Amino acid sequence: TWSAVPAGPPDPILGVTEAFKADKDPRKINLGVGAYRDENGKPYVLPSVKKAEELITAAKGDKEYLPITGLSDYTKLAAKLAYGPDSKPLHENRIAITQSISGTGALRIGGAFLARHYPHSKVIYLPKPSWGNHTPIFRDSGLEVRGYRYFDKETVGLDFAGLKEDLLAAPEKAIVLLHACAHNPTGIDPTAEQWKEISDIVKEKQLFPFFDMAYQGFASGSTTKDAFAVRHFVEQGHQIALSQSFAKNMGLYGERVGAFSLTTESPEEKARVDSQLKIVIRPMYSNPPIHGARIAGTILGSSELYPQWEAEVKGMADRIISMRDSLYNSLTHNLKTPGEWGHIKSQIGMFSFTGLTPPQTKALAEKAHVYMTADGRISMAGLNSGNIDYFAESVNKAVRG
Ligand code: PMP
Repeated sequence: TWSAVPAGPPDPILGVTEAFKADKDPRKINLGVGAYRDENGKPYVLPSVKKAEELITAAKGDKEYLPITGLSDYTKLAAKLAYGPDSKPLHENRIAITQSISGTGALRIGGAFLARHYPHSKVIYLPKPSWGNHTPIFRDSGLEVRGYRYFDKETVGLDFAGLKEDLLAAPEKAIVLLHACAHNPTGIDPTAEQWKEISDIVKEKQLFPFFDMAYQGFASGSTTKDAFAVRHFVEQGHQIALSQSFAKNMGLYGERVGAFSLTTESPEEKARVDSQLKIVIRPMYSNPPIHGARIAGTILGSSELYPQWEAEVKGMADRIISMRDSLYNSLTHNLKTPGEWGHIKSQIGMFSFTGLTPPQTKALAEKAHVYMTADGRISMAGLNSGNIDYFAESVNKAVRG
């Protein structure tokens, strides 16, 4: 029956972990996976999450099904976190929101909803490059995927002129996917001033902005600062779509906690949109899992756990920022590695686009047991004081050839 099914290619990111696992060298380092690691290279369960779980266990709740759009105590607070406590559409009860299977599920619900109900276009523009899963998510949702320029190889920075040109050349009312903060894979974000210009272009061309916010708080250490772009667009009167994930900022990767929301014109319009979100979700997975939503809801709704969590997110962001400084200093000052490494410090979030070439990344894996994706992206969270010197020396050797 399946004799004509061709073997698919391995996942480019998860494949790195396979190669890492097979390597027996004690010095090996995995910088492929986008999950936070603590100072000892171990996965990190946030203390605020542990406390929330104790409260949940003590409350002895049942395991009944959630509604199709999930736990409303949680989604209300997720919306407040993203849009801000003073958000106009939030206060006017015109944000349609549903719980989702983390960020991926939110993007997929959004893609499917837009493919079915957005009346003006079936085309979505993604930054070049973007997170590898964006293209298949939106293609499988029934949208046509195109790209806009984003990364400038020469400067290892943002190609802002190219970005503007491409958005201005896009058909009116097309959908445009924007990484709200900590762009994956490049770690390069527009400045506040550049976001304002992007907002103006989106307005002029009547594009539909779809924000993917997978790293709120993780980029700068402040959930408010990282929400700047989303809140600015909403203040400017744009109707937006938003995907949220609590995988990174609460370390809830495997719990799959996210949310998808749309701002609308009125409570009445919101109610109609909510009803159609349910119709999109029901045949996909019926209703979402309960445990992770309880954790996130407990933290966001607690006057004690919320500030604790914010401090813990900042702790993760700060550790990553300190690794950027150390790596930059080692390469530039200690090892005098050829090339310009300022982007390691200026990029933000989990990842750094190092500028290492595919042959260099191959040499790093084969000779130094250091694993990263072939595009030279490294997860900064995989570095710590125990391995950073070895990593810098290995990069230095690979660059010198
Ligand atoms: N969007 C971006 C840009 C991401 O980097 C990720 C995680 N790698 C996601 C969405 C979704 O992740 P998850 O489904 O685990 O929330």
